Amino acid sequence: MAKLEIVHYPHPALRWKSRELTKIDAELEDMVQQMFDLMYAARGIGLAANQVALPYRMFVINPSGDKDSKEDEMVFINPQISRRNGSEEDQEGCLSLPEIYAPVTRATRVVIDAFDLSGQQFEMDLEELDARVVQHEYDHIEGIMFTDRVAPGPLAKVQPLISDLEMQFRNRQKEGTVPSDDQLKAQLLALQKARTGG
Ligand code: ZN
Repeated sequence: MAKLEIVHYPHPALRWKSRELTKIDAELEDMVQQMFDLMYAARGIGLAANQVALPYRMFVINPSGDKDSKEDEMVFINPQISRRNGSEEDQEGCLSLPEIYAPVTRATRVVIDAFDLSGQQFEMDLEELDARVVQHEYDHIEGIMFTDRVAPGPLAKVQPLISDLEMQFRNRQKEGTVPSDDQLKAQLLALQKARTGG
């Protein structure tokens, strides 16, 4: 498995509606371990497959943010949010939108089911920060960025930072240090074929 890295907006993987995984194997375990390592190195508390340019319905979280707190690590494979209750606004950030923070309204409580790395299905009832992280990461596998959910006023404040990121990304593509969108999409399609049966 190639070495994964966190991609930044506007990498096309962040707008990809990911497909369900059809197999769990050693290579997938390696991807998950790399995702945890990258998340801790970037001081995040959640990371979705789309953020490492993998078009799969999978994400990892550790709301404690502490890499030594293994009991707080959770892997969600083919997750589904079955219930959402309540509503609360709070600041969010994203490892794919570095230095950008803005308020997002989310459900305060969610019920989510998914498969873990051993292929066992589980269901969890999550509240507060756990619920927020899971909703943020679930959005990623749908190709949704948290900034899509920010109200126009606060969004206008961070728009210059978003535009900077866009410009940096397009400049790297012009220099040839980042592949073109078409090439990146072709890579995503190949990865999708390999593990989702489509
Ligand atoms: Zn994010």
